[in-house]
Amino acid sequence: SFAYIFAERLARYQDQLQMLALQDPLTFAGNRRMMRRDLTAAVSANRRSGKRFTLILLDLDHFKHINDQFGHEVGDRALREFADLVREHIRTEDGFYRFGGEEFVLLLPDHGPASAGEVAESLHRRISNQLSYFGEAIRFSAGVAVLGGDEDWPAWITRADRAMYQAKHAGRDRIVLASDRHRPGADAITPKTERLRDADA
Ligand code: GH3
Ligand code: MG
Ligand code: MG
Repeated sequence: SFAYIFAERLARYQDQLQMLALQDPLTFAGNRRMMRRDLTAAVSANRRSGKRFTLILLDLDHFKHINDQFGHEVGDRALREFADLVREHIRTEDGFYRFGGEEFVLLLPDHGPASAGEVAESLHRRISNQLSYFGEAIRFSAGVAVLGGDEDWPAWITRADRAMYQAKHAGRDRIVLASDRHRPGADAITPKTERLRDADA
């Protein structure tokens, strides 16, 4: 029975280690590795059975300002509380990852273009402005992209990233839905895509 207890503990410990290896320690969102795993699985499921997936790339607006004004500790708290807030507003089947500094990714199964836009808008309405630090509200911009049939995941994320930058350029604190058309020349590799591909190798 000692052996049994030991084996059970070891299994639990291994699960914990595996979870830690896939989690961002600050926000407890999935890390880039978990994101790559899940996006790859989403692309295969889409090819195999036509299951639909939407990706939302969120980037906090003027976040540098929060750090500069109130310090890194407050910035860290804002990131943690933002992640908590997002988790309150998504379903258990949705993936949530920290993509980098103050950028996050949501992976939503079973949404097509119309409902994906609605989900993103409603998330934006409910979350943007909910947090504020010393009178400065946390707002975010986001790009939304529905997975295309011929797309790999770096191309998918690049479309969401471009839409997010359009949202920034249009004045921030808003959502932009990426066009689903794969325009010729549109897949020029951005520095971010390049980093992602390197990380895959
Ligand atoms: P924009 O609206 O264009 O996105 O402006 P921004 O200031 O959010 O964008 P920028 O990319 O210039 O700055 C992101 C800042 O996020 C830089 C860095 O100070 C902060 N940041 C990134 N990671 C962390 C973190 O782990 N903790 C804290 N406190 N700050 C972070
Ligand atoms: Mg950013
Ligand atoms: Mg930002």
